[in-house]
Amino acid sequence: MTEDLSPYAAGTAYMDGRYMPISQAAIPITDWGYRRSDVTYDVVGVWQGNFFRLDDHIARFRASMNAFRFRPRETDEDIKAILHRCVALSGLRDAYVAMDCLRGRPPASVPYHPAYARNYVTAFAVPWVSLLNQEVMARGAHLVVAETVRIAATSVDPTAKNFHWADLTRGQFEAHDRGADFCVLLANDGTVTEGPGFNIFVVSKGSIVTPSSGVLEGITRRSVIELCGELGLPIEVRPVLVAELRDADEIFMSTTAGGIMPAARIDGRIMSNDRPGPISRQVQDAFWVRRAEGWHATPVNYAAADLPAAS
Ligand code: PLP
Repeated sequence: MTEDLSPYAAGTAYMDGRYMPISQAAIPITDWGYRRSDVTYDVVGVWQGNFFRLDDHIARFRASMNAFRFRPRETDEDIKAILHRCVALSGLRDAYVAMDCLRGRPPASVPYHPAYARNYVTAFAVPWVSLLNQEVMARGAHLVVAETVRIAATSVDPTAKNFHWADLTRGQFEAHDRGADFCVLLANDGTVTEGPGFNIFVVSKGSIVTPSSGVLEGITRRSVIELCGELGLPIEVRPVLVAELRDADEIFMSTTAGGIMPAARIDGRIMSNDRPGPISRQVQDAFWVRRAEGWHATPVNYAAADLPAAS
């Protein structure tokens, strides 16, 4: 076996105009992106050398930037080229590719107000990351409904991807304390929202429902809705009551970092003989079959690694 000595092999970052090995990428400690979580982001997957739904992720990233009033210098086409280059420099075939826009910090000469900060884009590609390891994916995740309520959508818009994760993180500690893998958070009105990094689907008597509001409109969620159409599985997008979640025949989650992820327990109650249920499996299998067929795929431009270095 030969050792890969490329400094980019562990991952590549782009920061405000420059590319570097991931180990060298660092945020200034005074940046409001860090100090105030004043940042938005998106994450797109690369599988077998192809981005999945790249244009959809870029469009959502731009919508999130607009929602939080970020104005970086990079255009959508620039951002796409940056992501190709990060993956190409790393040489990764399967990658987790993140793009962030940070507020920056107003210089001393202007009012101490976010309107005066110069916003900038960072991005990185690292080896593929999954929320669930193979063992949990095979047995089905154990979920709990957290006591912690999701931050009100009227305060922080959950459709714009953000780092205000204190509710989700607190919910994850609740899940940990109760011996579960993941929390699911409710909205103030008691309806189901989402979990840390995933959307949720409830299967009951052969029909599937997913919450219509109070959630990030996940790109994988959109893919599930399309797949259900292809498979002839009835699916509704509407408010979901917590009783529906607790009484579900099956539950599954969706995210870029893992795809379709079945659950086997909710609040300690066992579903489908403590294993992923048949409809969850059907959707999960169809997802990877369609991916292998090149569904919504954009080949990574590996030749971008040879472009002259930007600085
Ligand atoms: N909900 C939240 C809060 C998320 O952070 C994510 C992804 O990170 C999702 C849902 C799933 O979205 P996607 O399928 O676009 O990855």
